[in-house]
Formats: sequence, structure tokens, C-alpha cells
Amino acid sequence: MKSLQSLASFFLIVGLVYYSFFSLMPQKGSPSSVEETKFSTERALIPLKEITKAPHYIGTKEHARVRNYLIGQLEELGLETQVQEGFVINPKWKSLDKPKNIIAQIKGSENGKSLLLLSHYDSALTPSYGASDAGSGVVTILETLRAYKASGKKPKNDIIVLFTDAEEVGLDGARLFVNNHPWAKNVGIALNFEARGSGGPSNMIVETNGGNKNLIKAFMEADVKFPVASSLMYSIYKMLPNDTDSTVLREGADIDGFFFAFIDDHYDYHTANDTYDNLDVNTLQHQGEYLLPLVHYFGDSDLNQLKSLDDHVYINLPFFKMVSYPFTWVFPMLLVAIVLFIGLIIYGLRKRVLTGNGVS
Ligand SMILES: [Zn+2]
Repeated sequence: MKSLQSLASFFLIVGLVYYSFFSLMPQKGSPSSVEETKFSTERALIPLKEITKAPHYIGTKEHARVRNYLIGQLEELGLETQVQEGFVINPKWKSLDKPKNIIAQIKGSENGKSLLLLSHYDSALTPSYGASDAGSGVVTILETLRAYKASGKKPKNDIIVLFTDAEEVGLDGARLFVNNHPWAKNVGIALNFEARGSGGPSNMIVETNGGNKNLIKAFMEADVKFPVASSLMYSIYKMLPNDTDSTVLREGADIDGFFFAFIDDHYDYHTANDTYDNLDVNTLQHQGEYLLPLVHYFGDSDLNQLKSLDDHVYINLPFFKMVSYPFTWVFPMLLVAIVLFIGLIIYGLRKRVLTGNGVS
């Protein structure tokens, strides 16, 4: 009987561990036959194939072709589109760069702050085909906007699309937007899609100069299907030296945001292996599963309410999706856990289920 019990608990634990990985992200892409209002990886892959035919780092002919193609895609979606061009001093090389950002807008019905969707369209100089980094982000935005428009909704807030240029040479495009574009001053929140590999779950990371309390609350209310996020990951991210476009927005214009990136198969990152074929379709689906509900949510919510001084601890869990609690609870909760643990050991020793040797 005892061995049957331990066998059952063994399988239960294995099952739970398996489920906690399995439930992190979509297990398949979505065909183009899904409803028009849904995100489809098959539809998103069409523009991805087009922009990853060859490396397209800044200054190349292919870079210009990709830019023109993306402008065409945005115009096809009915968005007013512009190219922002200007000089930026590259802080790393002290050179004068001239990035060309692609910017488009869906006008909102009210005059609140705007929602910014961004990713970069230049590929790494390796040269790389830029399929995951950051073609996946660009097409996630295109396919999401298509699905959003198909729902017939008109947002309250302006939705701005920013495909930054020259991210790979020093975040120049984001710097140009923050320094010179009049729309930068009114951004309430930015959603940035990036890659540090070519597969696996996409992690949500918060970018803010203040506390994360209201941002996490809003993120949880948007109710994305596969949230992968934890304050621990955020602390690790903050210690890493590599900046992103989100860092530039936060430091240069105090723009809060969420940053979504995947890191599995990281050996493909910034290499000639960052190709259309190597991008994990499930990962692309995961990016879409984030963005579509967030566009619906932040398109209509009051973006003036996101700033906060308080920090929350948060983590994604199987069955619960995500939980969060004030940072100030951490110490009392730790005390409760210690008391419970000691209580359990005393109880075990008294009942003679546990022995001194067994515990140590
Ligand atoms: Zn990138």
C-alpha cells in the first residue's frame, strides 16, 4: 500500500512538473483559417518570409527594400504611415548615424495618452537574416493590428506603431524617436517585441522608472493566455548590461513599458542561423497571444493611471496564470513560512512520522 502511495505521488509530481512547462506557451501555431479577429501564425509568416530573404542591416539595399515593403504593409492596413529620418550621435562609436524609423498611427476617439507598439526592422550586422531578431516582433505587430482592425473596434487611445531602425548599431532609431518625434511626449505605455534566440517561451519584462504595481495590475487584467513573468527575472534583467529600445524610451522620455523576448536556442542569436526556418512557430504564436489582448486592453484603458511608487512581487504559476502581492509582504510571508515549517517538523516528530535522522 505504502509503495503504491509513493508511486502515485511520484507520478503526480512528474505530471505537475511536465504541466508547468507544457502550460507555459502555445503548443502549436494557428492556421490562416482561424477567425479574422484572431492572431494567426500562418498569416504572420507571410510578411516574415518577405523580410527575411536576405540580411538587411542598416545601409544595405535590402534594408531599403524591407522598409518599403513594411510601409506598404502598414498602408494596406489603412494606417497613416511616415518615415522619420534624422541624425543621431551613436554613443558607442561616437559616429553620426542617420536612421529611418517607420511610424504609423491608428487615431483614437479620445485625447488621452497613446499606446506604442514597437520592434526593430534592421537585422544584425553579422550578417543575420533577422527572422527572430526582430522580424518576429515586426510581424507580430502587423498580424495583431490586422486582427484588431478585423474586430471593427475603434480604440479610445491613439495606437502608434514604431518600427525602429539601427537598433543593432546602438539603439539609434529609438533615440531619434525619443529626441525628435512630437508623439514621443504623449506615449502612455510601450510594448516592445524582441528576441535573444529563436525559440522557447517569451518572457514579459517590465520597464519602469517607478514602481510596477499598476503596470502588473493592468497586465493581469488584460488576461493574456500564457503569461511568463516573474519579478526575479526582472531583477536578473536589470543586472544585465545589454540595453534595448525599451531602455532608451524609459531613460529618455520616462515611458513605461513591457518588453517581450524569448531566449531559447540562443546560439542562433546574431548569427546567420537567425532564419525564417529556425524561428519556432509556437514562439511566434506566444508573442501574438500576448499582443492581441494587450492591444484590446490598452487601446481603451486610461493610460494616465499606470504610474506608481509601489512595487509588487509577481510570478506566473500553473492553473493561476499569475499572482502578485506587495513587496512589503515578503518578510511577513517568509516568517509565516518558517513558523509553518517548524510546526510541521514538531508535529511530525511528536507523531513519530519523522525521525531526527530523517529530517537531517
Ligand atoms: Zn534585436
